[in-house]
Amino acid sequence: MCGLCLPHCPTYQLHHSELESPRGRIALLQAVAAGKLSADESLLAHLDSCLVCRACEKMCPSKVPYGDLIDAGRALLREQGQPARPMVKQLLHQISDKKRLQRNGSLLRSYQRSGVQRLLRASGLLKLTSIAGAEKALPPIPPRQTLAPLYPATGALRGRVGLFTGCISSLLEGEVQQAAIALLTTLGYEVHVPQNQRCCGSLHQHNGEPQRAAELADDNIPLFDEMGLDAVVSTASGCAAQLSEYPRLYGQGHTPFYEVCDFLSTLEWPDTIQLKPLQQTVWLHLPCSQRNVIGNSGAVAQLLSRIPQLQLEALPENHLCCGSAGSYQLTRPDNASALRERKLNLIDSTAELIVSNNLGCALHLQSGLEQRGSAVEVIHPLLLLVRALP
Ligand code: SF4
Ligand code: SF4
Repeated sequence: MCGLCLPHCPTYQLHHSELESPRGRIALLQAVAAGKLSADESLLAHLDSCLVCRACEKMCPSKVPYGDLIDAGRALLREQGQPARPMVKQLLHQISDKKRLQRNGSLLRSYQRSGVQRLLRASGLLKLTSIAGAEKALPPIPPRQTLAPLYPATGALRGRVGLFTGCISSLLEGEVQQAAIALLTTLGYEVHVPQNQRCCGSLHQHNGEPQRAAELADDNIPLFDEMGLDAVVSTASGCAAQLSEYPRLYGQGHTPFYEVCDFLSTLEWPDTIQLKPLQQTVWLHLPCSQRNVIGNSGAVAQLLSRIPQLQLEALPENHLCCGSAGSYQLTRPDNASALRERKLNLIDSTAELIVSNNLGCALHLQSGLEQRGSAVEVIHPLLLLVRALP
């Protein structure tokens, strides 16, 4: 009830309304749980507009577990017969099955490369449909990359790690996953890529489908545990945040999960690896999943400081969500754009390159920059590191 979380809440910053604050949403959830309030469109809109960034939870002096409350509240609404928004429902369906996702990814790739997308966009027909917003937000689908089940270490073996490839990451972030493999094997790690791993369940967990999230975790946990690995790493901080919560949420699993920069930053690098210098200023974006859930917010900066001559600057307002937040662009595109614009307005005009270790944030920021006609690029920090390898 103290309200200390309010200034840290991005939607409160946008709307200055109690109902758009953590305290307001907790009051709404309490009323729904007690049967004093039924879910109407206005209530759903206030709950939908929470980014689940958990900035409030991090600042709360009473340790109110806000993340668990909003997840449970959304699950309760589903139980009471409130369906997920159609676009979110479709997204959750797609990512539940990686083979289906890859198949549909191939179709989208053909749609983009065959010229059909360009024609449809030019014709204006898309604007007449309900998918116009989602189609506009669709990132370019890169050529499909298939990873081998095992990459041996270079030189003496230091350990064995698993690579968590994720669902959307495996479709869009193949180059980053190759970079992770290159860095890990160079540092003496054998990298295992189990071919039947599944989505981490994060989007299901935060969108009212905790049962589905638990089913996915039930498949992933024994898969990695049975391999006897030292650790499992993920290149997307959003997935890594969900994976790092497995023991707390499900009380099982003994293999530690890491965000890949977090893992690499804790390792001793042999003197034989001297990275090439890069004379450039790079702006660092800090995803909420790293800052508020995983912790070790300095991991990326620490890792990039290994590149000689690289200048690193923190992106303004790194304590506030950029508006990406998983499926948020589908449920609240207005807020997602407003938060992104606020951040982009503060970026130094001399900026050329932004790094972000979360795929969703990187795509969201890149799309906003392109809409402005900006040439600033947003890339994963591992791509900089791998380019600097001797
Ligand atoms: S999770 Fe983020 S958006 Fe949601 S109430 Fe907390 S600070 Fe606000
Ligand atoms: S969630 Fe925590 S910080 Fe926010 S009003 Fe409640 S007790 Fe205060």
